[in-house]
Amino acid sequence: MTMTDTLTALTGKPLGECTNGELYLSLLKLVNEKAAQQIRPVQGRKLYYISAEFLIGKLLSNNLINLGLYDEVRSALQSAGKKLSDIEEVEPEPSLGNGGLGRLAACFLDSLATLNLPGDGIGLRYHFGLFHQSLSSGVQKELPDPWLTENSWAEKTDITYPVKLGGKKFTARLYKLAVTGYEGRTNTLNLFDIDTVDESIVREGISFDKTAIDKNLTLFLYPDDSDEAGRQLRIYQQYLMVSAGAQLILAECAARGCDYHNLADYAAIQINDTHPSMVIPELIRLLGEKGIAFEEAVEIVTKTCAYTNHTILAEALEKWPRTYLEVVVPQLMPIIEKLDAVVAKRTKDKSLAIIDKDGKVHMAHMDIHFTHSTNGVAALHTQILKDSELKGFYKLYPEKFNNKTNGITFRRWLMKCNPLLTGQIENLIGTGFHKDATQLTKLLAYENDTSVLEQLAAIKKENKRELCRWLKQEQGITMNPDAMFDIQSKRLHEYKRQQLNLLYLIHQYFEIKAGHLPPVPLVSIFGAKAAPAYIIAKDIIHALLTLSKVIAADPVVSPWLQIVFVENYNVTAAEKMIPACDLSEQISLASKEASGTGNMKFMLNGALTLGTMDGANVEISQQVGNENIYIFGQTSNQVIRRYAAGDYKASEWYEGDPNLRRAIDFLTGPEMTAAGSSELLSRLQTELKNKDWFQTLPDFSAYVVRKGQALADYAANPLDWSRRCLVNIAKAGLFSSDRTIAEYDRDIWHLGK
Ligand SMILES: *Cc1c(COP(=O)(O)O)cnc(C)c1O
Repeated sequence: MTMTDTLTALTGKPLGECTNGELYLSLLKLVNEKAAQQIRPVQGRKLYYISAEFLIGKLLSNNLINLGLYDEVRSALQSAGKKLSDIEEVEPEPSLGNGGLGRLAACFLDSLATLNLPGDGIGLRYHFGLFHQSLSSGVQKELPDPWLTENSWAEKTDITYPVKLGGKKFTARLYKLAVTGYEGRTNTLNLFDIDTVDESIVREGISFDKTAIDKNLTLFLYPDDSDEAGRQLRIYQQYLMVSAGAQLILAECAARGCDYHNLADYAAIQINDTHPSMVIPELIRLLGEKGIAFEEAVEIVTKTCAYTNHTILAEALEKWPRTYLEVVVPQLMPIIEKLDAVVAKRTKDKSLAIIDKDGKVHMAHMDIHFTHSTNGVAALHTQILKDSELKGFYKLYPEKFNNKTNGITFRRWLMKCNPLLTGQIENLIGTGFHKDATQLTKLLAYENDTSVLEQLAAIKKENKRELCRWLKQEQGITMNPDAMFDIQSKRLHEYKRQQLNLLYLIHQYFEIKAGHLPPVPLVSIFGAKAAPAYIIAKDIIHALLTLSKVIAADPVVSPWLQIVFVENYNVTAAEKMIPACDLSEQISLASKEASGTGNMKFMLNGALTLGTMDGANVEISQQVGNENIYIFGQTSNQVIRRYAAGDYKASEWYEGDPNLRRAIDFLTGPEMTAAGSSELLSRLQTELKNKDWFQTLPDFSAYVVRKGQALADYAANPLDWSRRCLVNIAKAGLFSSDRTIAEYDRDIWHLGK
């Protein structure tokens, strides 16, 4: 049967007569049927990756690529006058994640299935995701981000588990989403929900009655936790995920012959950050119900579970007041207390306790004591954990600590999002890199091949034009594709320092006004959501939007400088933006970005990095060499020392650097306050001048110089720029999540087949 016949059988009418919506539903069916054929029985250990987020992106094209159907489907549609890219527009992006942590989980699922490893995800089926971001009024507005439709990738099952929340019985229902591997197997993303959730309780924006958990439990990812009801709701969500997840794991293992004593031979559980930490006491509780004594249960769980640490930001390491846990999960508190007593026997160091003297329960501490592995996500991050943040734990359990530098799946972040570049690479070195990313180094043979470098530049130009077309259509914005495209896209957070970029842009505005024209026009593109209760982050968005207006209205500056803010940054937007980028902004305060994965995506798509020595930037710079990356700013040791000394004074830097003072003063000058809100702008100004917790000011002058160098190099020698992009692509192989997953399997999971 030809693909046209197959598809026509599914649609029931000629393809040319179908709407894009009808074609989408038929393709969804086709994919799910094909995917089901790749499900393999499991032998030995199987992985369960538990995560509060899975930022999986749209699935249609990716699944078609992984199942080897993409080309056939595309030409069948083409002959009927239909375009796959139009059909893709019909698909809503699943709103199951927020940023890098959730995207990492999605890349890992892809690599597990591609490497033919048995590994399923466990998470929650949020109805409205984090939120949909609207920027039309000069400030961020939050709206629900619905994605569930009648026919969604996540299929309802009749598998349910009882879960006790706040002493009341609830029923968790399992939804299954097929995870296809590239020329590999099909695994499952298990998503839990409860039937009584009521979407109609959402009122203005994303606000809702936080106390009605039978109605609100899975509406949103990370509901606002600025009040007690919000914080408790997060614990309710986490417990729903881990209790249903743990029951699923035990049931699947029992079905394969496990008698629970040997659980570790059947299951490996990876705890992705602290959100799923309660799986530890929950498993101990469930094993107790099966007749296994506490001491043995602790041993079993420790052998089965492993923990990934994603951050050294103290506020992100969850600590819940025990009074909350006593309300939400009273059945777990006696177990957590017993675990705390075990810790007291292992060490006298009170700073390593699970329950501290103020009655706070430290989730990360429980993870480290009662799993067999704690890993960081980039070399520098793991080193900082051992040397400072988790030093006491490292002394107690040196054998548990290991590093697994993050990675990204090249199927989505190259083959799917950048077909032109993929085609060029295939022409040069064949298709081996699809499954063996290290083969990209073969590209180095073309480092001095002018026609290859010119073609690479032409592909970048075409991707930039494509981004221009998309942004015109989505937001009515016009951009100059001959300008340098400089992109900072990631969650909005002070440690990621979008405010440093903001200060640079104000500086450039003054320079251009003074007649110091840059060597090339610059389009500075942002994509970022700010957490709804994070005031300063929202003020930074407002300042960027306001500056964008001021510049656009200035006939002297606007030909040379443009600020574009892409609304609702998500995987779909990232797939358009990243292939079009010339300069990748990775400017976090050194020591604060655990790894980053955006940095890897940009590198792979032929952008040069402007960055600090932070997270995986360190490993990127080692791969490409100093001449192929723009590094600036304080080192992590300098930053850590400054924090330890506690003597950083932003005001001294403000007073000491006239350029910096000029830029910060401009925030509340007449141009800005005429275009924006003086209240929001002066709040940000005060923060920068008097506090600046993430040390933006000390890195300002080095940033200006380094970025100026990048612009000058780009303008002076396009061919050499292209050569350096080629080196970046060639050296990106290390950052394939296939490599990361192979290392997890080798060192931590030891999975079966
Ligand atoms: C990769 C990715 C991220 C993570 O970006 P970082 O720069 O590593 O913070 C966040 N959001 C989306 C949509 C992504 O694709």
